[in-house]
Amino acid sequence: MQIALPETVVYGLIDRTQSADFSYANFGETVREFFQTGTPIIGICAAGILIRTLAPLLTNKWQEPPVLAIAEDGSAVVPLLGGLQGVNDLARQIASVLQVFPAITTTGDIRFKTTLLSPPLGYQLVNPDDAKKFLADLLAGEKVKLIGEADWLKNSHLPISAEGKLTIEIRDKNNLELAKPSTDCLVYLVEERNQTEEKLGFSQGVFESQSQGQLAIVGTGPGAINWMSPEVREVLEKATDWVGYKTYLDLVELLRKPEIIRHESDNRVELDRAEMALDLAAKGRSVVLVSSGDPGIYAMASAVFEVLEKKAKPEWEAIAIQVCPGISAMQAAAASVGAPLGHDFCAISLSDILKSWQVISQRIELAAQADLAIAFYNPVSKERTWQLEKAKEILLQWRSPQTPVVLARNLGRKGQTVTVKLLEQLTIEDADMRTVILIGSSKTRIIQQGKTNQWVYTPRHY
Ligand code: SAH
Repeated sequence: MQIALPETVVYGLIDRTQSADFSYANFGETVREFFQTGTPIIGICAAGILIRTLAPLLTNKWQEPPVLAIAEDGSAVVPLLGGLQGVNDLARQIASVLQVFPAITTTGDIRFKTTLLSPPLGYQLVNPDDAKKFLADLLAGEKVKLIGEADWLKNSHLPISAEGKLTIEIRDKNNLELAKPSTDCLVYLVEERNQTEEKLGFSQGVFESQSQGQLAIVGTGPGAINWMSPEVREVLEKATDWVGYKTYLDLVELLRKPEIIRHESDNRVELDRAEMALDLAAKGRSVVLVSSGDPGIYAMASAVFEVLEKKAKPEWEAIAIQVCPGISAMQAAAASVGAPLGHDFCAISLSDILKSWQVISQRIELAAQADLAIAFYNPVSKERTWQLEKAKEILLQWRSPQTPVVLARNLGRKGQTVTVKLLEQLTIEDADMRTVILIGSSKTRIIQQGKTNQWVYTPRHY
């Protein structure tokens, strides 16, 4: 197998196989993961096992990688899925090495010896939605006129004729024609370099999507969908893959079309998550890495650039990276009580996972001394309970016990609470990991509007 397809990696069941490149313990999980990341799968096993394993994931034939089964004695090669990604050609190639006939059942493929829906690398079908009727007409006996040059079409068994009612047109990608193709015309865009690359090889690249990979790092806002920017929403809806911490993916689950693949990950392994998102994008997929709030504030955007700088994999060079801003927790908190961040302010995370408490306490002290309003992120967690008390102690050395403090929990989510207190009243019971805390500067004021409304604001002059 590896002689015929040198890029193939062999996986074998642990304790049952000796010569595999890698071993796995759980067949279903392993196969499903390959499928979801668009990796071609060749199973040396019964077709039924692959079918049952992948059945729950079959939602979008445009995104299926090739999946095929080979009988363990090499007597049968059965393409199962991924007709649009070249599974039949892969089956032919393997079958010719094994000297058997591939079990190809796709009508268009058998009759025309080509798949119009999955052109070779470098050709892009502009109007796939018209292809179904086009193919039905072809199968019903219509002839096709070819405009432009393409060996893969000339060498096929398509009924090509200058009088054809149907048309296939090859257009240069750089020559932007705006006219929309009619339904009896399939249009392929081709890049010039394809003239030399046209021969199909079954390196990994053949199966990868032909479009440039994209990675959008988005912030969905604190929680509520009406706090999400239209740009983020659009990027989420157009993606092929979402990557993120489960809680954040759940917050936007309502927007997920079934064909979009979710890749959940643990909150702690941010660099792994960033790397995985880049790897997926390098395969040509449209990946969205989801953070809450703003992606550049204690979130995934820095993690991506950190891995990009440190690992600098060559396949990442062409990825189109975009960062889409979101409303950060401190902004939503400030807005809910007025304008406490209306003058100079800073943000400090109280988490000592990525920096030492010494650095944190020094920053709090300097910010207090500089009379900045402060937003505390990550104030308390199950394992970190004493930091907030310490922070309060430091603040009280520089700021009045009467300083207004805003405690905003679960902003934009179920159970939102916003409380205004004085610094001397602050206790760790006021906060958890879903709370952002705003500490006023010496100028921050609590005011009354009529009898019932209270606001907190920091004046713009000093
Ligand atoms: N990127 C996020 C911050 C992530 S760090 C942003 O820009 O908002 C996680 C911390 O953000 C939490 O510990 C909490 O302090 C704050 N936070 C995030 N979402 C919040 C919400 N909906 N309500 C209150 N605080 C929130």
